[in-house]
Amino acid sequence: MEKWFKTGWVLCPQNCSIEVLVESNKVVKVQPDKENPRSEGYTCRKGLNVIYHQYPRCHFRA
Ligand code: SF4
Repeated sequence: MEKWFKTGWVLCPQNCSIEVLVESNKVVKVQPDKENPRSEGYTCRKGLNVIYHQYPRCHFRA
């Protein structure tokens, strides 16, 4: 079973808000949070590649 969660970056001062899809206790997809009034749907390339940084040897959905 998969479920979307809202979360945010803590390692960069921009603190963009992202949404992550978690399946079997693992993040499988990431997208910008368009409803966040601060980041307004912005997520940089690093943010969109958070799965790679979390699980460096894992493949993820596009
Ligand atoms: S998505 Fe990019 S700009 Fe936003 S907090 Fe993360 S690293 Fe910083």
